[in-house]
Amino acid sequence: MHRLSKSESLSRSVSSIIAPQPSLKEDLPLLPCPHCGIAVKKFESHTKDNPNRLFYKCVNKMTQCKFWKWENEYLLYLKKHSASVIACLDSELDGRLQAKLDNLIDEFKKKCEDDERQIKALVASFDKIKLHNIITITMIVVLLIIVVVRI
Ligand SMILES: [Zn+2]
Repeated sequence: MHRLSKSESLSRSVSSIIAPQPSLKEDLPLLPCPHCGIAVKKFESHTKDNPNRLFYKCVNKMTQCKFWKWENEYLLYLKKHSASVIACLDSELDGRLQAKLDNLIDEFKKKCEDDERQIKALVASFDKIKLHNIITITMIVVLLIIVVVRI
């Protein structure tokens, strides 16, 4: 058993030297770990045998979970579990849409508050002008009365 796993790991590292896997351009969806349910994360290998090679692993340190896959293996794993990938992407999309909607509502509220403030300022200055006009008209009327009475 021990020998087998050793040769397996040897063939794995040899194959990675012979045929280095180019990294995929897009990020793969991060599924919850099948062992402990915590989301897996993407990492980059900096070993001599696998420089800059991406891998995905569970970050659960409490149980020292062993879920760990090179990017190409993780892609195969995703293909095998397409239903959970779709569910995961679905809920991610829902979250993003909700966040976007919340942002839009916040922006709209702020804009409404700004508009309200501007309208209040306009009404206040309009009231001032109205008062000014009333005083001016009253003064003109008083002056006219004085002039008429004198004549
Ligand atoms: Zn795990």
